[in-house]
Amino acid sequence: MTAPDEHPRPHVPMRPLWLCRRCGQPWPCGAAKIVLLAEYQDASVSLFLYLAGCLHKAIEDLHRLNPNVTGCAGDMYDRFLGWPARHTRSYRLPSETPHHEEEPS
Ligand SMILES: [Zn+2]
Repeated sequence: MTAPDEHPRPHVPMRPLWLCRRCGQPWPCGAAKIVLLAEYQDASVSLFLYLAGCLHKAIEDLHRLNPNVTGCAGDMYDRFLGWPARHTRSYRLPSETPHHEEEPS
């Protein structure tokens, strides 16, 4: 038996470390990605803009914490912007391609 949690913490980034407040994974964690995909399912461009803003802030924050990690900007880019490109195929492909969706699992 667990006590009801009236304020479940959402999977949001804890700045300036950019770790998930809920599960401690590098943000966006798996749960955060699922929430974001659901929130922006009809607005993949808005999702990219939002994540691009997060990426910008994260690079600034992490650079301030540890100026030696600037070499991993490519990894940061993939962490924030690489994953939705793999899920939102309409972002890259023209709409005339056969309708074939893969559910993120
Ligand atoms: Zn999380």
